[in-house]
Amino acid sequence: LGLEAAGWLVDAGAGTLVLCGRSAAPGETATARIESWRKRGVAVHVRAVDVADRTQVGPLLEWIGSELPPLAGVLHAAGVLDDAALPNQSWARFEKVFAPKAIGGLNLDACLRERAEPLDWFVAYSSIAAVIGSPGQANYAAANAAVDALMQARRADGLPGLSIQWGPWADAENGSGAGMAAGHDTAKWTQIGLGTIRPAEGRLAFDTLLHQPLAAVGCFPIEWRKFLAQFPRSRSPKLLDDLALRHRRDAAAVNAVAGRARGRIDAAAEAERAGIVREVVVGHVAKTLGIAAAALDHDRPLSQMGLDSLMGIEMRNAIEADIGEEIPIESFTADTTVDDLCRVVGRLVGTEAGASAAADDAGQPLEPALEQQAKPVDPADWSVKDFPEIQELAKRLERFSTLGIDNPYFDVHEGLTTDTTVIGGRELVNFSSYNYLGSSGARDVTEAAKAAVERFGTSVSASRVVSGEKTVHRELEAAIAGFLGAEDAIVYVGGHSTNETTIGHLMRPGDLILHDELAHNSIIQGCRLSAAQRRPFPHNDHEACEAMLRQMRGDYKRALVIVEGVYSMDGDYPDLRRFVELKDRHRALLFVDEAHSIGTMGPTGRGIAEHFGLEARQVDILMGTLSKAFGSCGGYVAGSRDLVRYLKYTAPGFVYSVGLSPANSAAALAAIKRLERDPSIVRRCIDNSRLFLRLAKEAGLDTGTSNDTPVVPVIIGNSLRALKLSRRLHALGFNVQPILHPAVEEKAARLRFFITSEHREEQICTAVATTARELEAMTAADAHAQGVPG
Ligand code: PMP
Repeated sequence: LGLEAAGWLVDAGAGTLVLCGRSAAPGETATARIESWRKRGVAVHVRAVDVADRTQVGPLLEWIGSELPPLAGVLHAAGVLDDAALPNQSWARFEKVFAPKAIGGLNLDACLRERAEPLDWFVAYSSIAAVIGSPGQANYAAANAAVDALMQARRADGLPGLSIQWGPWADAENGSGAGMAAGHDTAKWTQIGLGTIRPAEGRLAFDTLLHQPLAAVGCFPIEWRKFLAQFPRSRSPKLLDDLALRHRRDAAAVNAVAGRARGRIDAAAEAERAGIVREVVVGHVAKTLGIAAAALDHDRPLSQMGLDSLMGIEMRNAIEADIGEEIPIESFTADTTVDDLCRVVGRLVGTEAGASAAADDAGQPLEPALEQQAKPVDPADWSVKDFPEIQELAKRLERFSTLGIDNPYFDVHEGLTTDTTVIGGRELVNFSSYNYLGSSGARDVTEAAKAAVERFGTSVSASRVVSGEKTVHRELEAAIAGFLGAEDAIVYVGGHSTNETTIGHLMRPGDLILHDELAHNSIIQGCRLSAAQRRPFPHNDHEACEAMLRQMRGDYKRALVIVEGVYSMDGDYPDLRRFVELKDRHRALLFVDEAHSIGTMGPTGRGIAEHFGLEARQVDILMGTLSKAFGSCGGYVAGSRDLVRYLKYTAPGFVYSVGLSPANSAAALAAIKRLERDPSIVRRCIDNSRLFLRLAKEAGLDTGTSNDTPVVPVIIGNSLRALKLSRRLHALGFNVQPILHPAVEEKAARLRFFITSEHREEQICTAVATTARELEAMTAADAHAQGVPG
C-alpha cells in the first residue's frame, strides 16, 4: 500500500520520494514502478531503514534535511501481523506487531518534533481493526489504536497528523485482498457487509482526507445494516452504538420521507396503525413464501409454512427497510408466527398495542437513550466563526491576496453572457458560460418568458400537486418527452435538486448504486440521501463497472448505474452502448445525466442517446438540466409513464417544492421549439467545439480526453499557474475560469473553455492563440526565474 501511495504522490506532482523499508531491495513489481517514476523525472531514493529503531530514523531525517528538498509529507505505512486468538496471544507477539506500527510511529513523531520540520502532512495507515475489532488481531488492533492516539496528540499540539483506519484493500488484478489483507479471501468480509477498497477508491479517500482537519478517520465500504445484523442489538460493538443508532434513525427518516410503510403508519390515526402493520407484515411474509396473502395462517409457525433461515433474513431485511427499524434477530425462532411478527413490528413502530407490550419488557429500552453531554462543548461545535471549515475557507481565500491575485470567483457580469460578456465595464470574449446554444438571450425565448410573466405572474407559489399547475408546465413536459422520444417527463426547479431527489427517492437501503468516479456532486448527494450502497467505478470504464456488477449485483435489490452524457471537467463522454448492454445483462437500471449533452450531442441535439443511435427508452432515467442548452433554470427527468407519475406524486423535491416559475417554464419550452425548428444551431456549436479543439491541439495545448463536446480543458498542471494564466487572459479580454486543486488533482489544474454556437471563428482563433502564447511566456519566465534554460 505504501508503493500504491507513492504512485499517487508521483501523479500529484511529487518531485522527490524517499521509500523506506527494512530491506533495501524492493521486489520485482516495486522495482518496475520505481523505474517508471524515475523515467518521469522523479528522484526516487530507496533506503533500508527499520522504523522501529530510533537510531535509524534520526539519521534518515538528517540525511533528507541536508541532501534533499524540504520534507513536505511523511507516510507511515509499516505493519506486520501475528494473529492468534486471545488465549494464544503472548507479549512477544504483541511486541512483534507493535514494533513497526506503534513504536515506528512514535519514533517518527519524536524525530520530526526534534527537527521541528514544518511538514504539510503526516499520515499513518491504521486499520479498521482498531475501530471494530478483528478476530485474532488483538495485538494489531491495539497497535493501530496507539497510532490513532499518536495522531490525535499531534493534532492537539497543532501539528499535522492523520491516521486513516483502512478497511481491507482489494488487489486491483485478481480481486483478492491486498496490503495487510493480502492472501485473504474477500468473501468472508462481504458476508458481514464489509466491502474491499479498490486502489482508485483508496486514492480518492486519501486525497479527500488529506485536506480535512481530522486526526483519525475510519475508511471502509460497509453496509451497516448487514454488518450490525451480526450482533444482537444489545451486543453490537460499544464504539458503534452511536453509529448504529444514527443508521437506524437515517433509515427511518429516509423511509418516512419516501412515504414507505413507515410514513403511512406514522401519518395514520392510532386506531388504524395496527391494521397497516398487519398489512405490511402479511405482504412481506406472503411475498417471501410465494403464497397469496389470503392463504396465510396467522397462527402457524412460519417455519412450518416453508420459511428457511435464508428466506427469514431476506424477509427481515425487507420489513426493516419498509419500517425503518431494526428487528431484533432473536424475534425469529422456529415458532414465530405472523401474529408474533405483527406484535414485534407494532412495538417497534410504537403503535398502542406495541407500546403496552413494550411496557412489559422489564423496562428494556428499544433504542439507547441519547444522554445529555456532561463534557464542556468545544467552540468549534457551537460557534460558527470557530467551525474549522469556516476558518479553512477564510485561509484559502486569503491566499489570493497573499499571492497578489484577484479572487477568481463570483465575477460580476453586467449583462447577458453569450459569446461575450461585460465585467467591470469591459467587454470580454466569454468562455465560461453553459449557454451552449445561445438560448438565454435569444429573442423568441425572451419574448416567451415575458408573455408567461404577463399571463401567469412571476411565481407558481406552491407545489403543483396540491395547488395546481399552469398550462405551460404540461406543455414543457410534453415538449421534453416529445423531443427525446420518451413516454413522459417531469420538471423540477433545479438541476441539482433533480438528481438529489430522484436518486434519493428511487433508491433505498439495501440497493446498490455504481457511478462514474467523476460524477457530479448532485449525483453523489442523491446517492447519500438514498442510503443505498454507493461505489464509484473508474472514469468511463464500462468493463470495471460490469466487473463490479458481476461481483456485487446478487447481494443487492435494485442496482442503478449512473453516467453523465458529457463530463464537464474533461469534455469526454461514456460509450453509452456498452452501458446499455451491461445494465440489461445484469438487470440493473441506467441513469444518464444529460446536463451537458442535451442540445450539444447528436445531429439534432437530442443528446447522447441520439449520438449513439439509441432510443430514449433504452435508458431507464434520462435526466437533464434546463439551465444550459435550454436557456432557463431547472431540471427534468424523462422516462416511462409509470416512473414519471410516481415521481410527480411522491418525489420529495417535487411534492414539497414549488412548481417551476412561469418565466423559466416558458423560456425552456421556447428554447426547445427553437432548437426543433433550427437544428443548425447544434451544428454550429459542434463545429465551433471541433475548431477550438483542433486549434488547441495544433498549438500544443494539453486538452486531455476532450473529444467532440463543447467542453475543452487546457491542462496546466499547477493551480497557481492556471490561476495566473486565467487572470492574464482576463486582462487581455478573454473570460475563462481556472479549475484548481482540490476541485481536480494538482497535476490536473486547468483552464476550462465552454464553446457555444454563438462564438465566431475569429474569437476562437484568437483565444487559442493568446492562450498558447501566454502559457509559453509564463513557462519561459518561470524557467528563467529558476535559472533553467527555457
Ligand atoms: N448535473 C451535472 C452533470 C451538472 O454539471 C450540473 C451543474 N452544472 C447539474 C447536474 C446541476 O444543474 P443545475 O446547475 O442546473 O442545478
